[in-house]
Amino acid sequence: MSRVFNFSAGPSVLPEVVLKQAAEEMMDYKGSGMSVMEMSHRSKVYDNIIKEAEQDLRDLMKIPDNYKVLFLQGGASQQFAAVPMNLMKNGVADYIITGQWAKKAYEEAQKYGKANAVASSADKTFSYIPDCSDLPISEDADYVYICHNNTIYGTTYKKLPDTKGKILVADMSSDILSQPVNVSDYGLIFFGVQKNVGPAGVVVVIIREDLIRDDVMPFTPTMLKYKTQADNDSLYNTPPCYGIYICGLVFKWVKEMGGLDAMKVHNEKKAAILYDFLDSSKMFSGTVVKEDRSLMNVPFVTGNEELDAKFVKEATAAGFVNLKGHRTVGGMRASIYNAMPIEGVEKLVQFMKDFEAANS
Ligand SMILES: *Cc1c(COP(=O)(O)O)cnc(C)c1O
Repeated sequence: MSRVFNFSAGPSVLPEVVLKQAAEEMMDYKGSGMSVMEMSHRSKVYDNIIKEAEQDLRDLMKIPDNYKVLFLQGGASQQFAAVPMNLMKNGVADYIITGQWAKKAYEEAQKYGKANAVASSADKTFSYIPDCSDLPISEDADYVYICHNNTIYGTTYKKLPDTKGKILVADMSSDILSQPVNVSDYGLIFFGVQKNVGPAGVVVVIIREDLIRDDVMPFTPTMLKYKTQADNDSLYNTPPCYGIYICGLVFKWVKEMGGLDAMKVHNEKKAAILYDFLDSSKMFSGTVVKEDRSLMNVPFVTGNEELDAKFVKEATAAGFVNLKGHRTVGGMRASIYNAMPIEGVEKLVQFMKDFEAANS
């Protein structure tokens, strides 16, 4: 067996101990005589799996009791529609456009109501987070929407927008569990799990109870109505059982690592190794403003497309894979999620130093 250092933006690296445990439990989960994939989602043994996953997430994020945790399907993109269908009471919402995922959510919301772009960093290829201290928030906005960490461009909010009292909704797909979050700052948080938590397809919604309503848009599919899912503890229909089980194992791993405070220290240490090198290198440089740098996704370039391609090729051959930047941005991107060990980043930086010396 040989494992590479996988810098993929998603689906992405998972903790090896989790993969090993899943392998060990594959044929016979805790004496049940079957794998988690084969058991009824209504069985006692599965009920324990989903309840424990929820409790562990609640412990990790210190989720207050007046918030529901829903394990759903359809990935993060499905929530781009579910959020407006469920939360637009007045039919108005304000969106802050800091990258492609925020833009997609904004475009989807326009199908269901009046979605306003109240700020954007499109003018400089999303290389910064706009000043959100005094936005033209709509009087009747049902919520203000942000993408908390911009997976493609590598920026993140260091300070939350002033929503002027409106509910804040956040897509945290690519930085969930990377650092502590004050859940009460938000009305709703959602994350597709395949960046920092588990297998693609599962999306987790953390929603304040008073926002779970019956009078949603009349055409809202039963499955997309938060009330359906909340009333049935995420078991209205068959949930993505196996994916939720893996998420549960990752939650336990994060707990063992010391929780979100420890994760933050671990992630800051990793990111600093890479950013410090980018700031000192004559060949490589980061592509976003320093104040808004993401801890999770680090885009960089050499300034020469041919050299970028050569770097990606040689890095791949050396076991540093999925470093090619997003097709819309070019260059390189190293995604250094929770499960990427420090050693992976140290070795990548050493490789970059050697490449620089050999090519300048
Ligand atoms: C990957 C990603 C998505 C899309 O997730 P899907 O599960 O593929 O729909 C949405 N938002 C952010 C921030 C992402 O990183």
